[in-house]
Amino acid sequence: MTSYIFHNENEMILWAKDFAKALNAPVVIALHGDLGIGKTTIARAIINELCGDTIVPSPTFTIVQEYDVTHYALRVTHYDLYRIKDKSELVEIGLMDAIANNITIIEWPEIAMDILPKNTIHIYIGEFESGRKLFLQ
Ligand code: ADP
Ligand code: MG
Repeated sequence: MTSYIFHNENEMILWAKDFAKALNAPVVIALHGDLGIGKTTIARAIINELCGDTIVPSPTFTIVQEYDVTHYALRVTHYDLYRIKDKSELVEIGLMDAIANNITIIEWPEIAMDILPKNTIHIYIGEFESGRKLFLQ
């Protein structure tokens, strides 16, 4: 387990962009933490690093957004599972397919925990003083 402390949003964005540079194959990144803690901020930084300076809306209402990686044939699929109330919906929203083929970033991953691959990168974000702390597992 690795942990980090960020004093502000910009420090967290720089870390996430650096973290993204190592992503070059399908993998799941599960973002854990309360509302407003920075899950979308981290997802956006990863997507901007991999897919260019595109607009990355929160998938709160659309549930899923997809992006092409700029320099190789790979896609990033960004989920927010907050509104998913039944596991059967996970197939309908393409989660299995995304996990198999894409870099898959998941906010509110709790409902999907038992179908996530063993090598999923879990990122836990919490408050720390006036900033954030982050654990990577
Ligand atoms: P979540 O997706 O976890 O609900 P967001 O990424 O949408 O949270 O962030 C919510 C708000 O918190 C945004 O206004 C964002 O600017 C701010 N924020 C994000 N990360 C940080 C941080 N590390 N420190 C302070 N504020 C942050
Ligand atoms: Mg969010």
